[in-house]
Amino acid sequence: MALLNGLMLQVPMHPHLADHEPHGLHMHYAPPSSRLPDRFRATTLMNLAELIVEHGLTRTGVCAADGCDRVYADTSRAGRRRFCSESCANRTNVAAFRARRRS
Ligand SMILES: [Zn+2]
Repeated sequence: MALLNGLMLQVPMHPHLADHEPHGLHMHYAPPSSRLPDRFRATTLMNLAELIVEHGLTRTGVCAADGCDRVYADTSRAGRRRFCSESCANRTNVAAFRARRRS
């Protein structure tokens, strides 16, 4: 929470409505004059803040698969997500199955 609040103070914000393809009506969070990196920062911070407000502070994590460091947002009902993707979950399950069969 403190990290996100601190970052939101550093990035110029100017929330406003926008209506263009491919999204239709939606929010922009950075001032229209912002450079692209600051627009990405503002959008990412606001979406992370909304995720935390809606799902709590424990719903983000780093993928548990070997060799993968992607992060994920867990929006499932149970809140037990461990992997960034089905591909990482399947790869980990197959490796565990093979390890069990070897022993
Ligand atoms: Zn992964």
